[in-house]
Amino acid sequence: MSLQEMFGSLVFNDDVMRQRLPKETYRALYRTIAEGTALDPQVASVVANTMKDWAIEKGATHYTHWFQPMTGITAEKHDSFLSPVEGGRAIMEFGGKELVKGEPDASSFPSGGLRATFEARGYTAWDPTSYAFIKDGTLCIPTAFCSYGGHALDKKTPLLRSTEAVNKQAKRILRLLGHLDVKKVNVTVGPEQEYFLIDRDLYMKRKDLIYTGRTLFGARPPKGQELDDHYFGNIKPRVASYMREVDEELWRLGVSAKTEHNEVAPCQHELAPIFTTANLATDHNQLTMEIMKRVAAKHGFACLLHEKPFAGVNGSGKHNNWSMSTDTGINLLEPGETPAENAQFLLFLVAVIQAVDEYQDLLRVSIASAGNDNRLGGNEAPPYIVSMFLGDELAAILDALEHHNAYVAGAKTDMNIGVRTLPRIPKDTTDRNRTSPFAFTGNKFEFRMPGSSMSIAEANVVINTAVADVLMEFADRLEQAVDIRAAVESIVVDTIAHHKRIIFNGNNYSEAWRAEAKKRGLLDLPSTPDALPCLIAEKNIALFERQKVYSREELLSRYEILLENYCKVISIEAHTMLDMANQEILPAVMRYAGRVARDGAAARQMRADLDLQYEEKLLGRLTALINGIGGKIGELDEAARGLDAAGDSLGKARYCRDVIFARMQELRALADEAETITDKSLWPFPGYGELLTTK
Ligand code: ADP
Ligand code: MG
Repeated sequence: MSLQEMFGSLVFNDDVMRQRLPKETYRALYRTIAEGTALDPQVASVVANTMKDWAIEKGATHYTHWFQPMTGITAEKHDSFLSPVEGGRAIMEFGGKELVKGEPDASSFPSGGLRATFEARGYTAWDPTSYAFIKDGTLCIPTAFCSYGGHALDKKTPLLRSTEAVNKQAKRILRLLGHLDVKKVNVTVGPEQEYFLIDRDLYMKRKDLIYTGRTLFGARPPKGQELDDHYFGNIKPRVASYMREVDEELWRLGVSAKTEHNEVAPCQHELAPIFTTANLATDHNQLTMEIMKRVAAKHGFACLLHEKPFAGVNGSGKHNNWSMSTDTGINLLEPGETPAENAQFLLFLVAVIQAVDEYQDLLRVSIASAGNDNRLGGNEAPPYIVSMFLGDELAAILDALEHHNAYVAGAKTDMNIGVRTLPRIPKDTTDRNRTSPFAFTGNKFEFRMPGSSMSIAEANVVINTAVADVLMEFADRLEQAVDIRAAVESIVVDTIAHHKRIIFNGNNYSEAWRAEAKKRGLLDLPSTPDALPCLIAEKNIALFERQKVYSREELLSRYEILLENYCKVISIEAHTMLDMANQEILPAVMRYAGRVARDGAAARQMRADLDLQYEEKLLGRLTALINGIGGKIGELDEAARGLDAAGDSLGKARYCRDVIFARMQELRALADEAETITDKSLWPFPGYGELLTTK
């Protein structure tokens, strides 16, 4: 099969639909997809039948409603196409009803109390804007997952609501700017996925990696990323063949995986797809993560998607490239060639600036997790404080506009967006600052805080909703204006003046920035329990309700789920550490101490006057560590037992952070010290040096 034939060969995409569906049906479905009109049941039934025949031709025997519950991974419940009929025969059946709606047993998915208090069941509903595809012999139908009361129980529903909000408000503005032909404004997203590949045999020897996805113990290796030979370095043949297979599997599913190069840390890599609509990009990213893990096992690797698998080594993020574009092909964040295009670009640019400034708390919440807490603020990851990077040139332009100055490049006229054509923003001046949380990169923004294992849905829900809300405010103002051009200009100037505090082009790691950010009134929320309460702040509930993205109940339920999840993760980590320390680390250190003592005694027996200072000192340190580790095990164990009594969900989360996690760190410090002085052949699991060397 040629690459071209391979691409999308397992997707019921537009081409397939055009070829196979009756013209009328195709047109009706196309309108639903392209313009968001409601779907006629009759159309659904024709589509279902065609889809079934296509899937069976491709070897599928089952179908499933594929959805994204609040667990963060995708869920599927497989049903066979086979339907028994009288006489012991069976027919292949799949109708409009099965396509459009499903009723998975929803009780095992988190609902944060929504389902318990309202109704027992949930249902899945077909999302025709994301194509169906075949995976492992199963026709997967992307669906939204809701309760019977209409509450969203998944990540897709709010995402769809938020892209609709952007569409609605952006179109209002475009109409005022004269784009009468625009029928739809899409949010476009390209998530760059970072990951680690390590040897599967080594992985299987570490309970921490297996149960928690990250190393809970491990002394730093002498050779780390400081040697800098990994980035864009040669890709080892075994890794290359892994990447090749991941690519091919993704291409079949219509995911346009594009570049794969080594990342900064040893054994770290990145996969970037070509951007698409936010909805598809989110579905595709879920598929990408699943396939990356599965293919890894076939190649003798384990693929680590955790945000911080190794302390002191770069973590993994998911850079969320974001923009908006019209169905007529205009990228709304592309600086233009003409003054009118500039005005439009600046208007949408400042809308994002205002959105990020006003809802920095929600952006922080959208990427908050126990895993990501370990990553943010260190080793090239963005810090916890949300700020925006525009690059010097764009920042200077905005500054000139605000102060009605001539732009520095020597322009003679006053800076006036209706008169002067903006210079193109060169990409290479905008992408250098890798630690900026929210960077403008020439014709899109890159939100760099999301963690590598997360769904990108939440982050995009927040960006979309906040931007839609600002666009709504702008549209309200513009609709009242007599002179649109002057109104655009004054909106741009006002917005810069009010929200420039969020712009920061310097070093995000410096203490000076932290102090400066505080002076500017920017939020500094270092941990998940600090951030999560912002989700249910009244101003944020009002935002989501105004844009019809979440109801108050939905937000409250999500808040509970997120807190619960945070506690679960830390609690599992604590128990895994206790197991490893009790069953593996302490026995190893004690064995080694015993050996040192025995060897010393034996040597003394041979020659009583032997100077054994070093051995005695070593034995002393080992004994101290054994006692220390034993003591910390006791403290951590006690801490873990105390969780249930630690109050409400927020109280529990704070307890996890302040008591359990703090004691985990103390236990780890002693165990890591023990690792550095214990005979390597006795250490019970592979250390960092071994894990981070690809063979
Ligand atoms: P890099 O960040 O490695 O320099 P690029 O800037 O070319 O690479 O692209 C990074 C990601 O941004 C890719 O996934 C790309 O598809 C995506 N991207 C490019 N343009 C847009 C856009 N207008 N909207 C959303 N994502 C985009
Ligand atoms: Mg990038």
